[in-house]
Amino acid sequence: MTRYSRTIPDGKAGCTRLADRQQEMMFRMKMFHTPTPQTGVQAPAAQLSLQQLIRADQLAALRQTVLLSIPVNMVLGAICTFVAWRAGHLAIALLWLACSGMVNLLRILACRLPVQRVAALVQRIAAPGAGVIDLNLRVHWMLALCSGLVWAGVALLCAGYTAPGTLFYLTCVCGITAGAVTHGFAYARIPIAFITPPLLAIIASLVLVEPDTTRVALAAAVLLYLGALIRGSKVSEGLVSHASALKNEATTASQALEVAHRDLHQFAERMRYQAEHDLLTGLLGRAGFMAAAQAMAARREEVLCMMFLDLDGFKVINDAYGHDAGDQVLVEVARRLQGCLPAGATLARLGGDEFVILYALDAQAELPELLARRLIEVVRQPFARLAHRHIGLSLGITLSDRDDIDEMLVCSDAAMYQAKRRGRNQFCVFNETLNAHLQMKRDVERDLAGALARRELAVWFQPIVQHDGQTLDGFEALLRWQHGKHGAIAAPDLIEIAALAGLSEELLRFILEEVAGMIAFLQSSGRSDLRISMNISPREMERLVVDELVVSMLKAHRLPARMLEIEITEETALDLQAATQTLVALALQGVRIAIDDFGVGYSSLGFLRQMQVSRVKIDRSFVTGLADQTENQALVSAVLQLAGSFGFQVVAEGVESAEDLQTLQAMHCHAMQGYYFAPPMPAAQARARIEALAQA
Ligand code: C2E
Ligand code: CA
Ligand code: CA
Repeated sequence: MTRYSRTIPDGKAGCTRLADRQQEMMFRMKMFHTPTPQTGVQAPAAQLSLQQLIRADQLAALRQTVLLSIPVNMVLGAICTFVAWRAGHLAIALLWLACSGMVNLLRILACRLPVQRVAALVQRIAAPGAGVIDLNLRVHWMLALCSGLVWAGVALLCAGYTAPGTLFYLTCVCGITAGAVTHGFAYARIPIAFITPPLLAIIASLVLVEPDTTRVALAAAVLLYLGALIRGSKVSEGLVSHASALKNEATTASQALEVAHRDLHQFAERMRYQAEHDLLTGLLGRAGFMAAAQAMAARREEVLCMMFLDLDGFKVINDAYGHDAGDQVLVEVARRLQGCLPAGATLARLGGDEFVILYALDAQAELPELLARRLIEVVRQPFARLAHRHIGLSLGITLSDRDDIDEMLVCSDAAMYQAKRRGRNQFCVFNETLNAHLQMKRDVERDLAGALARRELAVWFQPIVQHDGQTLDGFEALLRWQHGKHGAIAAPDLIEIAALAGLSEELLRFILEEVAGMIAFLQSSGRSDLRISMNISPREMERLVVDELVVSMLKAHRLPARMLEIEITEETALDLQAATQTLVALALQGVRIAIDDFGVGYSSLGFLRQMQVSRVKIDRSFVTGLADQTENQALVSAVLQLAGSFGFQVVAEGVESAEDLQTLQAMHCHAMQGYYFAPPMPAAQARARIEALAQA
């Protein structure tokens, strides 16, 4: 309770610390939510809380001011007793003093005991069902009345205000009543209960005992005085209540503001965490990694080592076991990687199945090659969710003493791709060759838009021949560009760079135009039986509305759809749900669909039939040198048999020798393509060939 009385509103309220105010508030809140014993129902805090808060303030003020007034009360009581003794009324004076002392003692106790104790004591005597504060106020009020009754007894000490000491007693009683009003400014009932009995006793004495004009006039004056005091008490209580209401409203508002502020702060913290972290694994995300890496680079002087990690075969896991299993694998991978980190290293998930590690290569640090092997090893361990499947890890490593994190990311990413090209579970350290390749990509990215606008790129055509190795079946369109500085740029690089530069659609439109030109030429040369195949990469399939672009090209040039074939890699066919719709839409228009690089992916022939595929092209890694490789022969022959039963044609790519041709012919392969027949050639050369054939 000391805490409570320390925080009562007084002259120093303005300096009361916020923490104290909060404690006070909480204390009060607790009190007001005490269920009333009769009903067991909580006070409707929303409606009553302000009223009750005001009561609490009143009680607090009361408890302090009553304590201040008691000593005055006791001293005056003692003086009255002394005067009565001198006037020969010792016995009654002592009795009166005893009563006064007892009441004062009770009033002190009521102020000193904790409010809960006071309420509990009163409830035990009579359970009025009021709240703690109200019970306390009631106790004070009753004790004030008792004290007032004691002071009414002063009339007995001076024979009804007729004895010679009357003036003294009148002054004393009027003084103490005035003092009671001054002290009891917070809660009017208390001073009123205290002052009414003695002043009424004075009035009664003056009027009833030896009345005369002066005494009656004095009684009237005392009555007026009583009225004025009662009114004064009420006015000051009103003022106190108003001030308390204002204070409590302000406190409540400031608390609400504080709560709102805290919520806002927590929300901002949560948002910041979400922005910086990957919510699946709990690792840093890209933004968080960039911030952490830049801080690390700024603070370190050693060479930094960055490892770019990419899981091998994760897409297949997702497709075969579902995304939930995929997520669990990612979480487990994150956990395993974390267990291998060198001291002070930062690990982040950049998205999908890509992770990155950054650490300082100080004297004690583990060598990157050793760490890479260890990481590959931990990821290679079996996963509970994936019965017999293992996951591989490809790593690209880059070392740098400059603090350019973006550049390190680009370099380690390039090294990771190089590692992927070498197969599963490989790592590659960024080197000069990769650097030159990266430089080439940057130059190409910079120059590609201009080259497209100037139509410096070209589409070459490579013949596809039928089973006999001579009859022309069609051509495959292949992209070419001779860069001023870097020479011939590989077609897959061009496609990738175009995507990076946001030029995919422009490039595809260019290729479509060239292909349309060739189809139109074939048609006008009377070779509508031939077909032009063009490649569409997975990325193009994903990002562009390929079917619309293709169909509008055919319509614009009034070309028959059956003379066009779209080659997509197995990966595209398997990966993209959207690809199925695109392919079906194209097939419905009459465009042929071929599966490229067949054999390196995972697609089943049954699945391909759903997608309206008409041809599969066996990847050249199975075809080149086929005559000497019995394993590949078994595979090619199996594909041929299955394709036959599903009604697909088969094209063997990469035929480089007469022996390969003979082997394929013996297997009854439908069509073939390769340097043995002809390399890709510029459009003009391909046209010349057609013309020569027509003349022959
Ligand atoms: P691809 O679709 O498998 O194309 C066949 C690739 O094999 C071509 O390489 C071709 O020149 C090469 N080739 C043909 N016969 C032989 C042979 O007997 N032996 C060997 N070793 N290679 C042979 P190219 O033109 O460099 O194209 C590489 C890849 O780039 C293509 O593989 C295709 O995936 C992609 N590509 C080419 N042009 C385009 C295009 O216009 N669009 C898209 N999206 N991708 C293209
Ligand atoms: Ca192809
Ligand atoms: Ca191919």
